[in-house]
Amino acid sequence: MSEKLLVRKIIHVDMDAFYASVEQMDDPALKGKPVAVGGSRERGVVAAASYEARKFGVRSAMPSSVAARRCPELIFVKPRFDRYKEISDQIRAIFLDYTDLVEPLSLDEAYLDVTENKIGHPSATLLAQEIRYRIYHEVGLTASAGISINKFTAKIASDINKPNGQKTIPPEDVLDFLEKLPIHKFFGVGKVTAEKMKFHGIFFGLDLKARSLEYLTQHFGKAGAYRRNLPFRASKPSRTPFMDSSPSIKHSIALLSLKS
Ligand SMILES: [Mg+2]
Repeated sequence: MSEKLLVRKIIHVDMDAFYASVEQMDDPALKGKPVAVGGSRERGVVAAASYEARKFGVRSAMPSSVAARRCPELIFVKPRFDRYKEISDQIRAIFLDYTDLVEPLSLDEAYLDVTENKIGHPSATLLAQEIRYRIYHEVGLTASAGISINKFTAKIASDINKPNGQKTIPPEDVLDFLEKLPIHKFFGVGKVTAEKMKFHGIFFGLDLKARSLEYLTQHFGKAGAYRRNLPFRASKPSRTPFMDSSPSIKHSIALLSLKS
């Protein structure tokens, strides 16, 4: 194994407003309109909202009745999971042209390890561009991508220029990026934990890094301590595809026991 392989190249691809975009693609009458997939106007919750609907403050997991109040023009569409699965498979087939190391997170999101990709292209940034281009032209939908040395950073990066954009965090910028990252952006830090961390003076990654493991375990339990270690450990390049870079707490435990 050559030295070069130590820096992995991970792309996180995330489809833009996936369910809603599929509905808008299949029914031209919905194009450019505020669309909510899921529930009906009276009951249920919104599973996905088109960008036009998001402008009115409509969000996924919001009760349909609230969504309808925020956006009176909102069009409710029943989900068609078979169709979403079908399109997800088409997108997966495109990924597999580049690498077999594909880890789906859901129907509309996946990690790709393109360190050693099938077409032998060294730039993960250009590969991400090509993959997004192909998804757009072959499937008809837009996707966003984050590119970095691990899953944790790639996933956060894919949100930065969303929709229909991408962002690369190169190896030399990863540590700086994580240190400046607001605490609520860290994977596994929900609203409640974020507020609690701010109360303790932890606002950015740098503050998290500066606290001792004992301090974090005492105030946030074991999970809090893992949260500190995971991103900063994952900021180091790894030999193993995916292994050290998973954003989940469960995987970080595996990582810590592997490395310590
Ligand atoms: Mg998505």
